[in-house]
Amino acid sequence: MAKRFILENIEWLVTVDSEQRVLRNAALAVEDGKIFEISSAGSLTGDEVIDLTGRLLAPGLINCHTHLAMSLLRGWAEGVDLQGFLERVWAAEGAIMDAPTCELGTELGALEALLGGTTTALDMYFNPESTHRAAVKVGLRHIAGPIFFDFPGLDGMEWNERIAYARGWPEKLHSLGGPEVPLYLMPHSTYTDSPEHLRDVAQLAEEINASIHLHVSENVAENDDVKARYGKTPVEVLADTRILTRHTVYGHGIHLNDHDLELTRGAGAAIAHCPGSNMKLGSGMIDLTRLHQSGIPVGIGTDGCSSSNDLDMWQAMRMAAHVQAMTSSPANVDAKRIFSAATIEAAKALGMEERIGSIEVGKQADLIAIDLKKPHLSPIHDIFALLVFAAGRGDVTDVWVDGERVIQAGSSVRVKVDELLSRVHSRVKALEGLR
Ligand SMILES: [Zn+2]
Repeated sequence: MAKRFILENIEWLVTVDSEQRVLRNAALAVEDGKIFEISSAGSLTGDEVIDLTGRLLAPGLINCHTHLAMSLLRGWAEGVDLQGFLERVWAAEGAIMDAPTCELGTELGALEALLGGTTTALDMYFNPESTHRAAVKVGLRHIAGPIFFDFPGLDGMEWNERIAYARGWPEKLHSLGGPEVPLYLMPHSTYTDSPEHLRDVAQLAEEINASIHLHVSENVAENDDVKARYGKTPVEVLADTRILTRHTVYGHGIHLNDHDLELTRGAGAAIAHCPGSNMKLGSGMIDLTRLHQSGIPVGIGTDGCSSSNDLDMWQAMRMAAHVQAMTSSPANVDAKRIFSAATIEAAKALGMEERIGSIEVGKQADLIAIDLKKPHLSPIHDIFALLVFAAGRGDVTDVWVDGERVIQAGSSVRVKVDELLSRVHSRVKALEGLR
């Protein structure tokens, strides 16, 4: 028999569907991991009933750009710009980030993400099999993918080995199990992957039908560097190397000129906007209003903990709204649209809108419950303003991924936190003396 349960007495149900419906006093049935029925409170039946009196139910948040394993390097590179950051972080990674440590860091990051209401993450890091295993264990919908650098990097792979490894990625991903995710290939950037190598990646992506995720135009120095080498902007390099013939998600995408925007829109590429990391590294501020006018899909991300120091999507939403007010006008800031950029717009950006991103019958039950009985969440004049400008990750009580409750009453159902933290602390001791 199908596994069915009812979420009952939902005070506010924020669907983020195409009509942006917000229901009061609702109930929702989940069957076999999917949203089966949405109705009014008291009208649905099932063996298991979970009472959500005083709570809000929303779709799980989607983090469109992160490096979960780098949670081990939280606070490691302070007071630096992107280039200074890379120098410090690459040294630390070289010292400790073997495959088991990537797994450990991802376990820590995935737990932090889920506890804060993030149910899906686009996660770029070395040793994707290890990172994916960890995230699946914790319960996150985790999009990993093979990494590409010109140089051997942490995993020690030469270029031909990377291509061979990536060709086998669909089978590897399948064998690791976990919530269903699309195939992605993840070349790091146009300043660490040559045009010849990017062409290889584009060709392979076509062969295995994968999307592509990479860092693009994160700061001015990056653009200057790429321009000096190739006489082109990073986006022009992506167009020339046929990367943009594949569905592509840019990490950052801050410094795009009009031609870049045209190429991006024409290709149907999306942008993962990471305002916390961008401001902390002094990289620049995205003009979200300009991107909206261009019709480019924008999802929100946190970036890794070594540049943004946490994986808090609530803070990221709030910063995205503030940055938009500063780069254009507060009149252009729409909390509903910002919340969408962490849910349904994010799902569109990642090519997953058929499956996740909103509360609609037939979609996967990736859901979060928020406790509204808090002084800082009262009164409620505007539910989206409440979610974007007042709510925080400490308000998330329960989290379901594919209909499985992985966070219950603010605690992980699957992970023993004390035991995980003691493994983390003992592993990062190896960094002592490196500063
Ligand atoms: Zn990044």
